[in-house]
Amino acid sequence: MRILVWFRNDLRTNDHESLFRAAQLGEVIPLYCFDLRHFENTEYGFPKTGAIRAAFLIESVAELRRQLNNSLIVRIGKPEEVIPELVQELDIDAIHYHAEATDEELRVEMAVKESVNIPVNVFYGHTLYHPDDLPFGIAELPGVFTTFRKQTEKKCRVRKPYSKVQIAKRAFEIEMGKIPSVEDLGLESHIPDNRSVLTFKGGEREAESRMAHYFFESKSVSNYKFTRNGLLGANYSSKLSPWLAHGCISARTVYDELEKYEIEVEKNVSIYWMKFELMWRDYFRFSAMRFGNKLFKPGGIQNKKLVKKTDKTLFYRWVNGETGIPFIDANMRELNLTGFMSNRGRQNTASFLAQNLDIDWRWGAAWFESKLIDYDVCSNWGNWAYNATVGHDPRNRYFNILNQADNYDSNGKYVRFWIPELKHVPAEFVHQPHTMSIDQQALFDVEIGKDYPEPIINLEESYRQIRDRG
Ligand SMILES: Cc1cc2nc3c(=O)[nH]c(=O)nc-3n(C[C@H](O)[C@H](O)[C@H](O)COP(=O)(O)OP(=O)(O)OC[C@H]3O[C@@H](n4cnc5c(N)ncnc54)[C@H](O)[C@@H]3O)c2cc1C
Repeated sequence: MRILVWFRNDLRTNDHESLFRAAQLGEVIPLYCFDLRHFENTEYGFPKTGAIRAAFLIESVAELRRQLNNSLIVRIGKPEEVIPELVQELDIDAIHYHAEATDEELRVEMAVKESVNIPVNVFYGHTLYHPDDLPFGIAELPGVFTTFRKQTEKKCRVRKPYSKVQIAKRAFEIEMGKIPSVEDLGLESHIPDNRSVLTFKGGEREAESRMAHYFFESKSVSNYKFTRNGLLGANYSSKLSPWLAHGCISARTVYDELEKYEIEVEKNVSIYWMKFELMWRDYFRFSAMRFGNKLFKPGGIQNKKLVKKTDKTLFYRWVNGETGIPFIDANMRELNLTGFMSNRGRQNTASFLAQNLDIDWRWGAAWFESKLIDYDVCSNWGNWAYNATVGHDPRNRYFNILNQADNYDSNGKYVRFWIPELKHVPAEFVHQPHTMSIDQQALFDVEIGKDYPEPIINLEESYRQIRDRG
């Protein structure tokens, strides 16, 4: 029996149920399609997948091919066109894949199913908890994360990962297909800035080596709860997100390793906290499954009636890290130059765009989608909706940006790292450089309004407006 295993955001050979089951049943024909729809410009005028993530994806596919003993077929094209051709050419008996959660992906799945008349077996491999094991149906997913977490932790367990699949020598004869370059995908290549928190390289082996480093080698995970709000350096958080998002490693494998760490090294609140964050990841995926396309609507899953600004000039000041509010600008510059931004930075920049600037939050979510190396549709849009108060927990929450800057970057080291224009400005002024006198500006070697912008809004006034909007 010949089974085509269609890979998407599950670029691994460990804990891969659809591959594991195919290998048990017969001969595996693995396939990855570079679908050009993922690289086109969106309605917002920038690519859906930017060059940094595209490079990570290409590396991950190349590594998958190595792991599969060079048997991975690679095509550039639409899966619903590529797959039926392969089914015919290689006389395939069944198709296996891992289900995705959101509309675009589900439409392609449907089109694939309609394009063939052989059995199509769908598995579920993206989350920590299997949806079939949850103590409630997806339609009854609790509206509050804490309720979801408590019920799930109490009544459910994380399944053990499937063992790694080794593919023997390829028996079928077919053109294997060249792995494209970033340019072949219509993008201009972009080498990440060397100030990046980490040199991210795609692929299963890199994922395992990062996990080994963060857990057992450096034991950084032992302090995770107390460092996770950091902004600078490789080890304030796990940085596993790009590999989790591309499925180079599964959440279950990470969980399994955490359990091992608890037995072999220590069990403490930090280890628990990483499991807790992985549960947020599950929650956003299950929520996307429950709420479907509401997630992408201006009023989000709350159906809120919002009138938002559509001011492109303000939006691009935010995009380019030119708002004149250093904590926002430093984070946006880090994102644009490296593809990564800390969780603290993401919360603040999202809150600033959606709440202080009062701009359509979906523009920001689309920009993150383009730029993030760890983009995951459910985590990105779910977190954005949450910060725009149209997701779970719709209270009128917002971040006080200057308080956040003082708490998490009290000496201004992070801001100076990404905004060299401010490198001589002392901590006292670094988060509000426009408050310096002309003499102070001269003393600290920066001219506000010329070298670095004046703030695009009055923050205090914008908080008043947020409160008035209610
Ligand atoms: C506006 C916004 C957009 C975001 N977009 C994405 C995205 O596209 N892809 C993505 O993976 N994460 C996203 N996040 C969540 C979070 O910021 C990143 O997962 C985290 O910063 C990645 O770094 P890390 O791997 O070091 O995380 P760690 O702190 O080490 O956490 C471990 C893992 O837990 C998961 N996780 C942690 N926090 C969250 C969270 N709030 N929501 C969902 N999962 C979480 C991630 O898989 C992460 O790799 C977003 C958050 C915000 C506020």
